[in-house]
Amino acid sequence: MKIHSLLPACVALATAFASLHAQAHEPGAHVHGVAELRVVVDGPQLQISLESPLDNLLGFEHVPRTDVQRTAVRQMARTLRDAGDVFAPTAAAHCRLTTVRLASSAALGESIEATPADGDGHADLDADFSWTCDAPQALAGVDVDLMRHFPNLRRLKVQVAAPSGQRALDLLPGRRSVTW
Ligand SMILES: [Zn+2]
Repeated sequence: MKIHSLLPACVALATAFASLHAQAHEPGAHVHGVAELRVVVDGPQLQISLESPLDNLLGFEHVPRTDVQRTAVRQMARTLRDAGDVFAPTAAAHCRLTTVRLASSAALGESIEATPADGDGHADLDADFSWTCDAPQALAGVDVDLMRHFPNLRRLKVQVAAPSGQRALDLLPGRRSVTW
């Protein structure tokens, strides 16, 4: 009986995630200084997807040509793969990072998956992060420190789909908390 009463909420969340995903791929989303973050809370799972112009993270959007640029790519990948420096879910929820996937339409090498390029000279980074939380009932939000690590990023457009509902908010350099 308990399982049955939970089912509609799961279906609603899956639908919300699908519609968030569709919105994020509308054309015209590539604006330097701005990135999009989608946060989905589903039972013990926390998923965060970042879609950002590469310029926000590297200062360029092409195949790295110099040692300085190759180092910038390595540092970006290390910072994002570590994830603990940029995302802090509610500590009491005891969330463990399970997967990080990085993909870009610019061929960055390293362990960053290549995706088809748009051919307009611009390129994005898509990053997906997943956590499993041991005490999901305590999970009330996540602090996001992306802008401290990547100062070219000035605004994060955040969409949240959580059991308590959906919401949209903007993070700015002085505002880093997402709650639900
Ligand atoms: Zn661009």
